[in-house]
Amino acid sequence: MELYERGEKAYIKAYGRYDTILEKGEGVYVYDTKGQKYLDFYSGIGVNSLGHCYPKYIEKLDKQLHTLNHVSNYFYTPVGIEAAEMVVKATKLDSVFFCNSGAEATEGALKLARKYYYLKHGKADSEIISFNSSFHGRSTGSVKLTGNAHYQEAFGPLIEGVKYANLNDLDSVKALIDDKTAAIIVEPVQGEGGVNPCDKEFLQGLRKLCDDNDIVLILDEVQCGMGRTGTMMTYFQYDIMPDIVCLAKGLGCGVPVGAFVANEKVAKAMVPGDHGSTYGGNPFVCAAVKAVFEILEEDDILTHVQQISAYLVDKLDEVTNDFDCVEGHRGLGLMQGLVIKGSAKPVVKGLLDEGVIVVTAGENVVRMLPPLIIDEANVDEFIEKLKKVLNEMK
Ligand SMILES: *Cc1c(COP(=O)(O)O)cnc(C)c1O
Repeated sequence: MELYERGEKAYIKAYGRYDTILEKGEGVYVYDTKGQKYLDFYSGIGVNSLGHCYPKYIEKLDKQLHTLNHVSNYFYTPVGIEAAEMVVKATKLDSVFFCNSGAEATEGALKLARKYYYLKHGKADSEIISFNSSFHGRSTGSVKLTGNAHYQEAFGPLIEGVKYANLNDLDSVKALIDDKTAAIIVEPVQGEGGVNPCDKEFLQGLRKLCDDNDIVLILDEVQCGMGRTGTMMTYFQYDIMPDIVCLAKGLGCGVPVGAFVANEKVAKAMVPGDHGSTYGGNPFVCAAVKAVFEILEEDDILTHVQQISAYLVDKLDEVTNDFDCVEGHRGLGLMQGLVIKGSAKPVVKGLLDEGVIVVTAGENVVRMLPPLIIDEANVDEFIEKLKKVLNEMK
């Protein structure tokens, strides 16, 4: 049997997969089983910020594999404590809970916000405000936070008490706030929903609404955090602080790790027994987290992101001007979306055939989430192939 057919037989078909089978990666390229080379402009959905097989990263993980992999959360480990301190420092918050994915990070943040509300009100009837076109994960709690009915339809009953406002529309949020509102959860830049950045006044307005009403502000930076937009956390560009931030994707750069990080006021609502995870933040993944922070700093990657993203944005301006089928582009740093008049799918497929991997966001957006280490030659290669595909679509 062909490898692809074997996969189709052995896997539950929750995904529509390409028939390309990827076998290895090196730097910003991945290779399929036929030896075809692809420019990775999506980083496994924003995960592989350091590209593939970054030497210093491998070295540090290899060392940890030979030291200690897992002990459960009955015990601290030196590497776990170091990773936790680094997360706290990088977010400018106070304490962290490690989990295994983005969905678990938002789910955990939700539980923490509910517990905070419970201690204040003495009852568990809290409500959460989320946003249309948001994405917060696929577990039955996080999928309810996700403002996309299509992902929820078949899986009810889901958790109760979630309402949806419109991004960048403060009045739509105000209209939903009442004395049961425990938290507002928002992505500073919506990823899956179409690469939609929050306006500065909007996010600052949310912060003020939360302050005025003692509501917990949860920022979901699972996709936009960890340097992707040019600052360690995207909220640094908005001059606000969340009460809780959710991280995953670029946090481990390829090992499954997520986290929710909170300020002291909210964090102290959780006490032993309230939440848990068997694997969450085990020594192996914490070695990855630690390696990621060390490499981001040692190799001055945030400065690089600021420079190379400006270069990419200039080129996307050109593409927007040159092609009628392109409506525009939007995003922050190396989280960019090219808005197509019509479906983005043919562009994504066309690029794959040309040896470039990107993903869609929403219906009509080609989403670029390249490794943070791309250089100008990589951008040039991407733009050249993008132009070729767009030309063929004319
Ligand atoms: C990917 C993503 C999630 C879910 O992460 P998983 O690891 O797939 O569970 C949550 N929030 C945002 C903003 C994401 O982009």
